[in-house]
Amino acid sequence: MRRKLVCGNWKMNGNLISNAALLAGVKAGLSHAKCEVAVCVPAVYLAQCQAVLSGSALGWGAQDVSAHASGAYTGEISVSMLQDFGCQYVILGHSERRAYHDETDALVALKTQRVIQAGLTPIVCVGETLAERESGQTQAVVSAQLDAVLTAIDAADLAKLVVAYEPVWAIGTGKTATPEIAQDVHAILRAKIMQKNVELAQAVRILYGGSMKPDNARELLAMPDIDGGLIGGAALNVADFLAIVQSA
Ligand code: PEP
Repeated sequence: MRRKLVCGNWKMNGNLISNAALLAGVKAGLSHAKCEVAVCVPAVYLAQCQAVLSGSALGWGAQDVSAHASGAYTGEISVSMLQDFGCQYVILGHSERRAYHDETDALVALKTQRVIQAGLTPIVCVGETLAERESGQTQAVVSAQLDAVLTAIDAADLAKLVVAYEPVWAIGTGKTATPEIAQDVHAILRAKIMQKNVELAQAVRILYGGSMKPDNARELLAMPDIDGGLIGGAALNVADFLAIVQSA
């Protein structure tokens, strides 16, 4: 049985004061949560998360990491630096990084390898654009994105992988994939993982992300291969985020 994971992606939002209220509100509302819950925050606020969340049920993580271990890579942050601040999760290959920072499948795969080797949980995002969906390429696109990662990691590490299916056309647009559309893609992704190891594929959590809100979360999370959510906009509001956690 896979334990559901609900993870907030704050993107480039927040400040020390608003974060304090958001973290305190979510932390206080988690006493009965049956699923795993985390927030992935801008790296400069990881110290704040460590100070506020240590020992609580709310985990925290980053939104990206360098593929390099250390050295002359101005502006980059290494996995060991994330570990210094108690990070447990790292979002990788978000469509905004693929689109605005030219992240390739190969780079995302390398970063995934680094994160797993360090003992952190990678949340690897895959998803098609609207044009790709409309031209019937969804399966090919998400399969290629996932294949790169599956090739890079050892079969024994499969269970440590979290995948997030995030159709690009649903991110921040208010358009959500129907539960059936999402389930179809999640099943394709799980079948791909099964080609690597049938048994371990059952342990891999596949999250849905893309305008998940309190009013659509329950239906999405009820689908057999949807094991949680990666939440953008709704993660910035205590009541909305907790309502999604409640659904999970
Ligand atoms: C995201 O960016 O990961 C995301 C799912 O955003 P939103 O929920 O705002 O669509």
